[in-house]
Amino acid sequence: MVSATNPASIDRSTVERIVRQVALEYLGRDSQSKAPELVVQTSSRHMHVCREDMDVLFGPGTELTFDRPLFQEGNFAAKEMVTIVGPRSRIISNLRILGPMRKQSQVELAFTDAIMLGFNDLPVRLSGNIKGTPGAVIIGPKGVVELKEGVIRAAIHAHMNPAEAAYFGVKQGDMMKLRIGGPSSVTFNNVHVRIDATSRLNVHMDTDEANACGLHLTKDVELFK
Ligand SMILES: [Zn+2]
Repeated sequence: MVSATNPASIDRSTVERIVRQVALEYLGRDSQSKAPELVVQTSSRHMHVCREDMDVLFGPGTELTFDRPLFQEGNFAAKEMVTIVGPRSRIISNLRILGPMRKQSQVELAFTDAIMLGFNDLPVRLSGNIKGTPGAVIIGPKGVVELKEGVIRAAIHAHMNPAEAAYFGVKQGDMMKLRIGGPSSVTFNNVHVRIDATSRLNVHMDTDEANACGLHLTKDVELFK
């Protein structure tokens, strides 16, 4: 029987321990020079509301109710939902509101959603850039708002903090490419870079884009200049 004090046995376990330590240290060093972990997510159609519209849709002074956190710090899906009426009186109900409240109300739709509502050439915009975009009628449980503008297809974009931007060598407003592997592999060529101190590396695409590349079927994703 081999005892714990058997010199040969100690030697072997010592060697194994050292090999493990060295390997772990090596992997640790290696991971620091590797790309930050890339999380690619699908953003389903949703609305952002301003204080004034919240008052009309849900009642004066009401606040959004937290339902679940989103990947970016401080952002959340609210329990509140509204109905949107498009230009040809077609509607989508159960349009989810995302918090927190913003300065301007805005509705983000995928191309399919837009066409279904009767918007055939809805502009692709970065969130917040809504000047000259179409409006819509929004129906809440307590009232109706007619948005003069603010309905967009959100441009595919990558959130990142300054350290992550430095890693990729990109600056605010740059475009990057996103390759999605798997059986329906697609490369997106116009991924907008959005840098914020509190951001975590995270690409947002809409449901049409995600379905086209089968995003949920693959972990093979790559963001590059
Ligand atoms: Zn985003």
